[in-house]
Amino acid sequence: MTAEIAVEITGLKKSFGPLDVLKGIDLTVRSGDVVCIIGPSGSGKSTMLRCVNLLEEPNAGKIVVNGVELTDPEVDVDAARRTIGMVFQGFNLFSHLSVLNNLTVAQRKVLRRSEEESQRVALHNLERVGLSDKVNAMPAQLSGGQQQRVAIARALSMNPSVMLFDEPTSALDPELVGDVLGVMRQLADEGMTMLVVTHEMQFAREVADRVLFMDGGYVVEEGPAEQVIGAPTHERTKSFLARVLNPNHLD
Ligand code: ADP
Ligand code: MG
Repeated sequence: MTAEIAVEITGLKKSFGPLDVLKGIDLTVRSGDVVCIIGPSGSGKSTMLRCVNLLEEPNAGKIVVNGVELTDPEVDVDAARRTIGMVFQGFNLFSHLSVLNNLTVAQRKVLRRSEEESQRVALHNLERVGLSDKVNAMPAQLSGGQQQRVAIARALSMNPSVMLFDEPTSALDPELVGDVLGVMRQLADEGMTMLVVTHEMQFAREVADRVLFMDGGYVVEEGPAEQVIGAPTHERTKSFLARVLNPNHLD
């Protein structure tokens, strides 16, 4: 049985003034799929994720998330966005709020959950990311890796059907990357639908159902990780991977 479609992008275009950033992106993500997006800086990876979350308005194309067309001018943007969790490179926690309150504020204000219910959900999600002991800590008292796991728990507390990750480990010290990837791997194992922009090729190889290589506003190559990363067919994919996998490589 094929899982239902969670995210469908067709003909997505986005420009900033004269700069054409996305030149026609097509992507189908089925429920429970983990899709990793790789590609050089400036290729439009963040812009694509931001369009899926309606942080950017596409110039053309169609985006459907769980049957709701986000690009329909009549769509309830706030309601649609609630079903999509996003985790950024910078953790974007509220620095003046405790970990617990970082997790409960949107639940109460946006989902109108009671204090008790939102705390229950928050504690459950802090446990999922291994931070039950940090409930009352302030963000500044946490390591970058812990802050990012709080940000993941915060997104999960809104019960998203899709999670978008934009280079979630790029701002972390190397020794903290593993814990965050571990949490993401666990989410993938639990069946979460995930779009992950990452430079962690080992993670992509082990966790992604599919890998997309983007360059110049297009999806240049797409397929199983072992094919796109292990045996790329396009020259641009090959030279990108050579640079990423061997930073001393000159081309
Ligand atoms: P990536 O995430 O692959 O590094 P981005 O999607 O962030 O790429 O950016 C793609 C291109 O779009 C870059 O040239 C970037 O400078 C440009 N860009 C992104 N956001 C904006 C914006 N809000 N205004 C103008 N240009 C932007
Ligand atoms: Mg980016």
